[in-house]
Amino acid sequence: MVAGDKPSGRITERARSVEHSAIREMFERAAKYEDRDLVHLEIGEPDFDTPTHVVDDAMAAAQSGGTHYTSSSGMPELRAAIADRTGADGQFDPDTQITVTTGGMEALYITLQAIAEPGDEVVVPTPGWPNYFTQIRLAGAEPVEVPLPAEHGFDLEPDRVIERIREDTAAVVLSSPCNPTGRVFSREAVTAVVEAAAAHDCYVVADEVYDRLTYGDQPTGISAYTDYDDVITINSVSKTYAMTGWRIGWLAGPADVAEATAKIHGYTSACAPSVSQHAAIAALTGPQEPAERMADAFAERRDYVVDRIAEIPEISAPEPEGAIYAFLDVDALPDTSVEIARRLLDEYSVVTAPGEGFGDAGRGHLRISFANSRDRLELGFDRIEAMVDDELRG
Ligand code: PLP
Repeated sequence: MVAGDKPSGRITERARSVEHSAIREMFERAAKYEDRDLVHLEIGEPDFDTPTHVVDDAMAAAQSGGTHYTSSSGMPELRAAIADRTGADGQFDPDTQITVTTGGMEALYITLQAIAEPGDEVVVPTPGWPNYFTQIRLAGAEPVEVPLPAEHGFDLEPDRVIERIREDTAAVVLSSPCNPTGRVFSREAVTAVVEAAAAHDCYVVADEVYDRLTYGDQPTGISAYTDYDDVITINSVSKTYAMTGWRIGWLAGPADVAEATAKIHGYTSACAPSVSQHAAIAALTGPQEPAERMADAFAERRDYVVDRIAEIPEISAPEPEGAIYAFLDVDALPDTSVEIARRLLDEYSVVTAPGEGFGDAGRGHLRISFANSRDRLELGFDRIEAMVDDELRG
């Protein structure tokens, strides 16, 4: 054993409670097959490059001294740009109601740190993004899964959620467009949940990082169409502008939440990276055509994926209405979805994310991302179909 390998035995219970996700396990497993032509359908990020004008502005900022700490709340110009695109006109005061963070992920983390007490419950309709569960636990609170039924395409059924809002409920997290199901929750369903949250004086955390990636007329932007003040909107430039590595996100909500989160943020990372904040200003205020072209490309791929799924009668999925994922029902195949995902990788060289990772409601499902080229999607589906053929059509 070399120095540093010896366990100190003093790692906190908090840290030990953090488990690697099922998605991460697939990622690690895939790394062992570097020599193979793997089709990666597990990755939750756009496969495009950041628009050139964004990179140019960031470089110019870096070359002209835009490299210092900023306010913990974020650069005023960026907060103004965020206020312009969030909620109804003039709903959010950029000076007091917005905190710029290191990605949407940190926005969620510090929001939960600010609003959930140890012992509180946070309600999460599932299938849901795995990070919610861990972040809620790291705040000392308890995640409460509300499984949405597969037979109704994992649509938001408000009564199921409302039933689980109790005195100790600090917040309800709504992810729409939803990772992993691609559902965009209807205005009526969301409004019913928000009204119940208001009646119980608990927050609604609206995770809208995929709000610009929708494939129909469905509404996003919960804060814009509800009167309840305690809706905290989480968003980022990551998915809309292919800027995952720049790490800029934000939250917009009540002033006391913005202030509390900015304080915590000040002690964890001081501020979001300044060069990236310049890049985010360029993304939000500059030409939108590159982002629109990416969204159009995702729409085409989504259509292709929907067609391919329809051609395999043994599997199905709710039609993605937003985001970049399809959530395949593979229950007809023998084995759990973790085992199916492993076998798809080991034997068919396709990397997917097992549904169990998204909560109990995700059992029997695989999440695939269509943030991949048409050719790769075609090859991936050919291979999935080959597995179905081998297993079920014998
Ligand atoms: N919320 C959801 C539902 C996500 O899928 C992601 C990333 O995959 C995030 C938030 C965080 O995104 P980022 O931290 O890159 O802004």
